[in-house]
This record gives sequence, C-alpha cells and structure tokens, in this order.
Amino acid sequence: MTMKTMEMTALGRIEPGKAEIPALGESDLLVKIKCVGICGSDVHYFHDGRIADYVVEPPFLLGHECAGVVEKVGPGVTKFKPGDRVALEPGIPCGECEFCREGKYNLCPDVIFFATPPVQGCLCEYVAFPESMAFALPDGMSFEEGALLEPLAVGFHAALQGGARVGQSAAVLGAGCIGLTTLLALKAMGVSTVFVTDVLANRLETAKALGGIPVNASATDPVAAILEATGGKGVDLVLEASGNERATLQTAELVKRGGTVVLIGMAAEGVMPYNIGLLMGKEATIKTVFRYRNIYPLAIESVVSGVAPVGRLVSHRYGFDESQKAFEEAVEKKAEIVKGVILL
Ligand SMILES: [Zn+2]
Ligand SMILES: [Zn+2]
Repeated sequence: MTMKTMEMTALGRIEPGKAEIPALGESDLLVKIKCVGICGSDVHYFHDGRIADYVVEPPFLLGHECAGVVEKVGPGVTKFKPGDRVALEPGIPCGECEFCREGKYNLCPDVIFFATPPVQGCLCEYVAFPESMAFALPDGMSFEEGALLEPLAVGFHAALQGGARVGQSAAVLGAGCIGLTTLLALKAMGVSTVFVTDVLANRLETAKALGGIPVNASATDPVAAILEATGGKGVDLVLEASGNERATLQTAELVKRGGTVVLIGMAAEGVMPYNIGLLMGKEATIKTVFRYRNIYPLAIESVVSGVAPVGRLVSHRYGFDESQKAFEEAVEKKAEIVKGVILL
C-alpha cells in the first residue's frame, strides 16, 4: 500500500511523491496526519539545505509539528484505539541511556527526531509512531492546536529553564513562532510584564494581542526602551528567541541584577563575542534550551484551559497539495506570515 508524500526534491522545491505506508512495530500507532506546522527549521532546510552539520539529501520529507488520527494500532498498544485524535511529540528517545534514565530524554544522543537528516519528517499521509510519544487531544482541541503543541513545548521549556514565576518581569527577543510561544508560556506561568522585541510589525501586533508589550527594534533601541520602562533595572528574565547575534548581545544589558538569561534561538554563528563581565557584575545566570522534555501534558492542559491560546498564532493555512507554495511563502512573506500550517 502506498501513500502520498510531499517531498523536498531539491533546494527550494517540494513535489508530490509516493512512499510505502510504514509498517507498524509492536507498540506503534499508524497515524493519519491531519495538520503539519511549518517551523523555522523546516524553512531553513527548504531554503539552505542544511542546519549546522545536518544536511538534507533529497528526496527528503520536512515537517515535525503534527497531529492526526489513529488509523491502526500495533498488537502491543494499550492506550490508543483507531479513531483517537493525537499529537505526536516528534523525538523518539532511546529510553536506556543515562540522560533518558534521568528524565532528560531531550539530551539523548540517540534520539530520532522528525525531519532532522537523515530522519524523514511527517509531510505525508501516514506515519508509524510509538504510542509512548503520542498524546490524546482532548475534545474541543483542534488538530492545528495539536500540531502547535510542539513549538509551545519549546516556549514552556524555556520559561521553566528560566524559573519563571508570578511577579517577575521578562523580555522576549524575537517574535517569531518560538518567541510568541515563549510569551504564551510566560503569561500562563503568571509573568505579567513581558516585553517582546522584533522588527516585523505583524509579529509585534500578534505579541500585543497575546498580552505582550511590543518593542519595535527597528524604530527604537530596544535596550534603551526596556531599561527606561523598568526604571533602569532591566528584567528578571531575558529569553532570546531569534538566534540573532545582536539580540544575543543585548541579553546581558537587559537582564536585571541576579536575573536569568535563557538562550533559545540557535545561534547561526555558534561562536560569538559576549559581555561576560557585565553578566558577572550582575551575578546573572545563563541557561540554554535544547528542544524540551516532559512538557506535552502541561502544554495540552494550558491550551485546553485557555491560558495559552496557541491556535491564535496561525495566520496562514494551506492544503497538502499547496506545500510548495506554503514553504515559498514562508521564505518570501515573512512580513505577513506569523505561522503557517498545512492541512491534510
Ligand atoms: Zn518546530
Ligand atoms: Zn537515550
């Protein structure tokens, strides 16, 4: 039995393809994909063919943010049945190594993660996936929201790494999808004052609609603006979600004495100068984030209860057959698109 795929056949090119419907392992679900979110990493692979040492060898399936319906279950599956609606946490850890055993399975060196070469993604009709990494979507939660649990999990992991709590102030640098989900997570955790910087008006508008305080970094000096608004003190938490070198340098200036900087955006240059002295003079802490762990249940709860309305990020929807257009627009129409999703 074959299924339809949308495969990356060359740089900037996605075309319809065919593949075998994957075979089911003992504890696997066969999931009919209903929604795939377009992530910044997918767009990088589409446009540049690589992220750091991960290089795309076409044909390649993009996509790691997904939700769908269980079509069939393996003989050992106990928690799901055909017809169940699920979101898939896209990394499958080994379960055996010291990191997995400590519960820090996102650090598992043998993790198999959708759309991270050579592992194929989920821009296709069916995937086989272990039930242990599938999460039931509660009634009333859409497939779009299910797919967006993935970037929301990054936001929550970042906020938790920073020790976010009620009464704090924060600044999120970069209002792309991850910056916005970080804003949602901070608000859900009771951080009421959250400045959000970006240079694109559509993203800043979305940040404002979600309760952030927008700071347009192309019109004003964001450091001066945030310091002024905090009486010169800076904020308790600075979360860098752009991967931009200039923004990363701003984190040391923005953080309050004793505060915490969380680096989320993958720095394109890896090596960069940083004002360590300034950070030390404030006894501030730097934390980093690699994906997330043990977050899906709380992310689902936060969406269902309404405290993290992640569905509001979706600005553009495309059909499966429009995958090429969806990715082209993600590259070319950054000033319009906040978050694009592909619906199957
Ligand atoms: Zn993603
Ligand atoms: Zn492991």
